[in-house]
Amino acid sequence: MFERRYLPVVVVLLVGLLAAVVALWAVDRATIKPSSAATGGSMSKDKYQWKLVTTWPKNLPGLGAAPENFARYVEEMSDGRLSIRVYGAGEIVPAFEVFDAVAQGVAEMGHGAAYYWKGKIPAAVFYTAVPFGMTAQEINGWLHYGDGLTLWRELYAPFGVIPFAGGSTGVQMAGWFNQELRSAEDLKGLKMRIPGLAGEVFDASGGTAVRIAGGEVYTSMQTGVIDAVEWVGPYNDRTLGLNEVAEYYYYPGWHEPGAMLEFTVNEQALSALPKDLQAIVEYAARAANQSMLDEFTARNNESLRTLLASGTKLRALPDDVLQVLYNNSLVALDALVENDPMAQKIARSYTAFAKDVRAYHEISERAFLNARDKVLPPVDLTGQ
Ligand code: CA
Repeated sequence: MFERRYLPVVVVLLVGLLAAVVALWAVDRATIKPSSAATGGSMSKDKYQWKLVTTWPKNLPGLGAAPENFARYVEEMSDGRLSIRVYGAGEIVPAFEVFDAVAQGVAEMGHGAAYYWKGKIPAAVFYTAVPFGMTAQEINGWLHYGDGLTLWRELYAPFGVIPFAGGSTGVQMAGWFNQELRSAEDLKGLKMRIPGLAGEVFDASGGTAVRIAGGEVYTSMQTGVIDAVEWVGPYNDRTLGLNEVAEYYYYPGWHEPGAMLEFTVNEQALSALPKDLQAIVEYAARAANQSMLDEFTARNNESLRTLLASGTKLRALPDDVLQVLYNNSLVALDALVENDPMAQKIARSYTAFAKDVRAYHEISERAFLNARDKVLPPVDLTGQ
């Protein structure tokens, strides 16, 4: 039985315990307050680990540099609070399953080309390349100061995926061919690795477009599975060794005048980040986007010089080939937007922006390049 004489002792003990709890709470607040104020009051110290899956072989220069740069920018800007590990194609998922992996949360992020998802999302082709469409500079304008990015996010919203521009190669090359193209007749019967809307244009022009990921284009060409391949341009094509499996190198890249890559982010993963880390993801993507164009601009020239020195034969696409490809591009675009309200909406925005920017570039970019060629001596990279 409890004895009344112990009551004062119990009361003292309880009061002491209460005082200790209050003291600990006060110490805790005093400790948290200054650090919280010093960091702006909103920064969480939680650390996040993300996976970023790509459609490229691991460490592929050029295209594969964008996700590596992005991960490094994020790591540095967040002081290691958001750490992103980059995986090459096939390490977690194959190249053409990157979008689904991000949508399903297998990985928080992806890097690839939107036109790889054409079978699932036909209008995605607008976000890699439109044949005879806008250049890198023009597309970046449409995305970030026109409706381009907003419409892209609307397009991917049903999949719980948020896209960001993920780099541009600039104007690509038309590709590698194992025979000369003297007229549009020579397209007939050719099997070519050429993705996106351009693949349909190539089919309509008498050839056969084949869908092959970057890691397999060299072998496909070497073993005769295909007769021609477009990949990127001198810098990246040389790293894949395409000059070893084809003799003729054609320009210009009618099909990819400003081929853009994409970062894709799982919507739930992004919204689970604190606001400052969300901003870091956005601005790191913006920086990686510009960095790729800068790198290709710097490295293509020297790579072309090396290719030509190794025996590659440089050729311009004949005018009649370009005309046939353009005519079939219009048909392919009409077919794309038919019965697809979202594709129509994006096409309207893209076309209107392209029309206006083209008009202005007539008197700015083109007029300047023409003027420069009039006064400077001609140059070529063949050394002749
Ligand atoms: Ca390409």
